[in-house]
This record gives sequence, structure tokens and C-alpha cells, in this order.
Amino acid sequence: YKADQFARGEAMNIVLLGPPGAGKGTQAKILEDRRGIKQLSTGDMLRAAIAEGSDLGKRAKAVMDRGELVSDDVVVGIIAQRLDRPDVTRGFILDGFPRNTAQAEALDKMLRKKDLKVDRVIEIKVEDEALIARIAGRYSCARCGAAYHDQFAPPRKPGICDNCGSTQFVRRPDDNPAVVRDRLK
Ligand code: AMP
Repeated sequence: YKADQFARGEAMNIVLLGPPGAGKGTQAKILEDRRGIKQLSTGDMLRAAIAEGSDLGKRAKAVMDRGELVSDDVVVGIIAQRLDRPDVTRGFILDGFPRNTAQAEALDKMLRKKDLKVDRVIEIKVEDEALIARIAGRYSCARCGAAYHDQFAPPRKPGICDNCGSTQFVRRPDDNPAVVRDRLK
């Protein structure tokens, strides 16, 4: 893969690695906006399943609230299905997957089968104490998902989303300091 391919905006498949709160989702959304490369976040997909009240969501919720990992079969299945949709032809960014060796091997296998490959793996490193401060203050717009932080990135007008004007915001139940330490472990 050559840098000028990226400059020309050609398809590119990326894996973003890094601990929770490192900024994987933020960077993925920037790439999505600028390049049309699709962000595939297993965490977002699982939270959508919880919001829908599906069987999958019901099974995943307790595990996620404790900051533990849902089973490899579940997340591998979600990604395998997602990669069959036509909107990933401009490329995809895996955000939060793979999270262990078994998932990485399953990814290799499914990409080979679909005749796809990973062009770049980018690891974002951040120290634990900074991660805890970043996660403890983060929240997002309930309507459009834009990300904010109490100290580091508040909306321009307090209580109003910069992006869509909504006044409803949400915090993740697993973004509390006790659970965050377990997730980092
Ligand atoms: P994230 O939004 O990436 O921080 O993920 C939130 C939660 O979803 C995690 O703490 C896990 O419980 C679950 N999850 C997301 N991605 C995976 C994965 N690849 N493997 C196992 N569990 C995951």
C-alpha cells in the first residue's frame, strides 16, 4: 500500500488498536468523514443491539456493564456479517476488534475467504492515568453520536450539540472509574 494511494482516496482497510479512551472512535469518525472509509466498532454495534432490545443485546449487556469481554463467537459473527455489506468497498476501519489472539486469527481467516486484506494497523498509546481522566468525563449526543468531554471538549454552547442541535446526551454505563480499571486490565 502506497501513501499516494491514500492521497488519491483509494480504498484502505485499517485496524485501530489501543486501550479504551485512546481516541480510536474519534479518529475513525474523522477518517469516515474525510475518506468514506467505514468505521466498524464492535462496541457501537453491541450497544445498538442493547438499545434495540435484541436477544444478542440482552445477553451482552451484563457482560459489558462489568467491563468484561463478550464471547469471541459473538463479535467474530458480527464482523463477518458486517463485512458482507456493500458500504465497505471504500475501505473499513476496525475499532475495538480484534481484542485478542483468537479474534485476530478469526479475522485473518475471514478476510482470506472474502479476498480482503488489512493495509495498515495503527496502535494508539496513552498512559492509564490519562485514559481514566478521558473516559470519566466523556459523553455523547444521544441523537447523532458526536463525542464530548466535560473538561477537554465541551459543546460550544453548554447543553447543545454542536453537530445537530440536540439537547439530549448519554454516558456509557461502563465509563465509570471502577469498571474502567478492569477494562484497562
Ligand atoms: P468499546 O466500545 O470498544 O470500549 O467496547 C465496549 C464493550 O463491548 C467492551 O468492554 C466489551 O464488553 C464489548 N466488546 C467490544 N468489542 C469487543 C470485542 N472485540 N471482543 C469482546 N468484547 C467486545
